[in-house]
Amino acid sequence: MRILILIFIFFINSCEKNDIPEFDGKHSYEFLLKQCEFGPRNPGSIGHQQFSKYLEEFLNEIDNEIIVQNFNYKEHITSKMQNGKNFIIQFNKESNERLLIGAHWDTRSISDEESELDKRELPVLGANDGASGTAVLMELALVFSDNPPPIGIDLVFFDAEDVGISGQPTTFAMGSEYFSKNLPIKKPQNAIIVDMVGDKNLKIPIERFSYKINPDLVKELWSLAEELDLEAFNYTLGYEIYDDHVPLWENAQIPAIDIIDFDYPNLFYNYWHTQNDVVENCSPQSLQQVGTLLLNYIYD
Ligand SMILES: [Zn+2]
Repeated sequence: MRILILIFIFFINSCEKNDIPEFDGKHSYEFLLKQCEFGPRNPGSIGHQQFSKYLEEFLNEIDNEIIVQNFNYKEHITSKMQNGKNFIIQFNKESNERLLIGAHWDTRSISDEESELDKRELPVLGANDGASGTAVLMELALVFSDNPPPIGIDLVFFDAEDVGISGQPTTFAMGSEYFSKNLPIKKPQNAIIVDMVGDKNLKIPIERFSYKINPDLVKELWSLAEELDLEAFNYTLGYEIYDDHVPLWENAQIPAIDIIDFDYPNLFYNYWHTQNDVVENCSPQSLQQVGTLLLNYIYD
């Protein structure tokens, strides 16, 4: 009898665990490195053009029905017109219960937060600001294709997030602005943006707009992070950050939140929008924590 009970307990445990796929942080980090091999990926650059092609091919291999949303916008730093591309890949297409997970794949054309003035004109490599969120989404795409998710998932790779003038939030996030005004998919019930999640010293408080827009989702995710011992997540209120989640909410009323660590690497200095946003300052373990939380949220 005791053996039977033990077998039963083992069976229950293994069932629960097997249902949630693992997130491979190291493999995701390879995607971060790959993006940075293309150099800076700011709109108009060769890196932008080449990575756009690479990403489209990568997604096409998983599903030949991806959506490519082309758009034009005025880039405010130079006042030039640019072409943008948002990429969308969908899983469990039949489901009416849908979650959008988004990240921006473009990087910033200037290092305007550099303390060394002669470096301010240089484009940012964007290992964290651009590549980290995109690397998480690319890895998720592989997981969802091997393990069909129980709810509908729309992975959206936004272009032209980092194209604005510092201090003028609405000149940023042109890709999500266009997407939310021209929804190419059915409106999802929830949305999660991931941005700047590669920091070696990852600390993720609650972004303030997110808490106003979708407090239920915030509470659910941060308490799940605590249950899973994902130490990067702190249940405290952080900054208010204008990111791709804001246009989603304002233009399409999609209740979107932002998972972001703005103190890169800490409170005292910041690599954000500088020449120090490089792969050495990012880590696979950080991507692992964010990916693990998302998979547990989706499959549990
Ligand atoms: Zn940025």
